[in-house]
Amino acid sequence: MSSRALILTAGSVITMTDTPVSAVVIKDSTIAFAGTRENAIQRFPRCEIVDYGPRAAILPGFHDAHSHPEIVAENSLYVSLSAIDSDDRTVLAQRLTARSNQVGPGEWVRAVGFRPGQGRQQSVIDAHFLDQVCPRNPVYITHASSHWGVANSEAMALLGIPVDSAPTGAIYEKLHFDAVFPALAEGQPRCPRAPEAAIAANLRGLLRQYASLGITSTVDALAWPGSYALYQQLAQEEGLPVRVGLLIAHQHLKSIAGFADRSDNDLLRVIGVKLFADGALSGGTCLVDEPYSNTQDYNGDEVLGEDSLASAIEEVLDAGHSPAIHANGDLAVHRVLGAFERHRDRARELGARLRIEHCSLVRQADLPRMQSLGVIPVLFGTFIGVHGDLLLSLYGPERAERLIAARSLLDAGLVVAASSDSPAAPVAPLQGIQDLVTRRTSSGHKFARRQSISVTEAIGLYTVGAAHAAGEHHRIGRIQSGLEADLVVLADDPRAVSSESISDVEVIATWMAGQQTWSADNGT
Ligand SMILES: [Zn+2]
Repeated sequence: MSSRALILTAGSVITMTDTPVSAVVIKDSTIAFAGTRENAIQRFPRCEIVDYGPRAAILPGFHDAHSHPEIVAENSLYVSLSAIDSDDRTVLAQRLTARSNQVGPGEWVRAVGFRPGQGRQQSVIDAHFLDQVCPRNPVYITHASSHWGVANSEAMALLGIPVDSAPTGAIYEKLHFDAVFPALAEGQPRCPRAPEAAIAANLRGLLRQYASLGITSTVDALAWPGSYALYQQLAQEEGLPVRVGLLIAHQHLKSIAGFADRSDNDLLRVIGVKLFADGALSGGTCLVDEPYSNTQDYNGDEVLGEDSLASAIEEVLDAGHSPAIHANGDLAVHRVLGAFERHRDRARELGARLRIEHCSLVRQADLPRMQSLGVIPVLFGTFIGVHGDLLLSLYGPERAERLIAARSLLDAGLVVAASSDSPAAPVAPLQGIQDLVTRRTSSGHKFARRQSISVTEAIGLYTVGAAHAAGEHHRIGRIQSGLEADLVVLADDPRAVSSESISDVEVIATWMAGQQTWSADNGT
C-alpha cells in the first residue's frame, strides 16, 4: 500500500552526510528525497508540509548500540532496592519480608539494584542475613552492576551451587549469570523468572519510552531464542516502535541456525553472537594490564582467554554470524584483538563485523591493530556522568585518561558506536552525547577531558556509527534519499546550545520506518 508523501522541514537538518539539506520527504517507510525545501516542493507538489520551525533540528533517529530492554523489563517485576540505602539492614529486611509475605512460603523472592557503599567485600547482605529475613523462601539479590548477586541457603541448594564455592552467598560473574540470565544458563538450573506476559507488557512500555527519547534502533545485547519470541510477539501484536537487533549469547549458537537470514520481520534481526572476555568496568572486575589502584596485584577477571575466544569466534563465523565480544579492560581488549587477528581473512571474506562491546580501556599500541582489523568499538555514553567518579577512583587518574577513549579511537580512523548498556546507565542518547562532549561526572569532575569529541562526532556515534556496528549502515544512520525514514526532531539544534544543556533539548517527534512513534504534542 502506498501512502502520500510528507515533507518535513526545520531550521537545521543534520544528515551525517556531506550534502546540505533543509527538507526531508518521507514516503512509505523510506526517505524519498533529502535536499532543499524548494526542490522538495517542486518534486512533491501538493503534498503536506510539516514545518517544525527555525529553531528545530531534524537528525537521523538515535541508535542505542547496546542496551538490555528485556532484562530491564524483567527486573522491574522484582523488588527494587535501587532507591534505598543498601547498607541499611532494617529497610532491606522490610522490603524482602514484605515480598516474602506476598508470595508465600517456598516461592522465590528476587530483588535487584542493591549497591553496598563499601563495595562487595563489605556488603551487609549475605546468605546468613537473607536466611534470617526470609527463612521460608529461596532468595536471590542482584547487584546494580548486574555482574554479581547474593543467594540465601535455599536458593544456593536449588541452583546447585555448593556452599564452599560461595561461603557468604555472594556469587560472581559466570555463576551469577548462569543463575539469573536465561541467555547464559542453557541447560542449567536458574532462578525462575517472572511471568512472560508481564515481561512482555513491560517491554512494550519500555520500547515506547525509547521512542520518546528519540531512539529508532537499539540492540538487545544479551539475547537468547526466547528473546526473539518475545520481541516477535510484540511485533505481531501492535508493532515494534523501535528496531531491535539481537546479540544472541554464544551458548545458544546452535539453536539460532538460520536466524541470520530471517526476514519475516524487518524490524527484528539477529545481528551477532555475544561472548565475554572479562568483567565489568564499574564493578572493578575488568581485565587490566596494571593492577587496580586500591590493590597490589588484582588485575580483574578473565572470562575467556585468547585461545578460547579464537575457537568460539571460528564457530560464530562458521555459523554465518558476526562476533560481538564484551571486553572492557586493556588486557582483555588486547587478547580479543589477538583472537580476531587469527580469523582476519575469514571474517573479511564473510563480511562479518568485529564488534567489541564497551572497549573501555585500550593500549595506545593496539589502536593501529584495531584500525587494520576494522574493529567497531561500542562505547559507553551516559556511563561517564553516572559512574565517572567511581571510575576515577578505581582506575586512578593517569589510567582514567584512556577510559572511554572516543577521541583516540576516532583519531585512529575507527568507526565508533555509543550505547547506554541500560540498566548499567540511563537510556538517554542526548545525555550520552553531552557526556561524550563535556566529559563531566555527576559531581562535576572532569573525566579524561582530552577524550572529548565534538557534538557532531558524538551524534555520529549514536547514529551512523551504531548503524555500522549493527551492519545496517546501508539502510539507517544517515538522512539520505533511499534510506529508511528513521528520524528524530529536536526543539533545538544540539550544536547550537551550550554543551552543558544538550540533555535538556526536547524531543519533539520520532519517526521510524516512516511512522511517527513519538510526538511531544500528544505524548504518543
Ligand atoms: Zn551489556
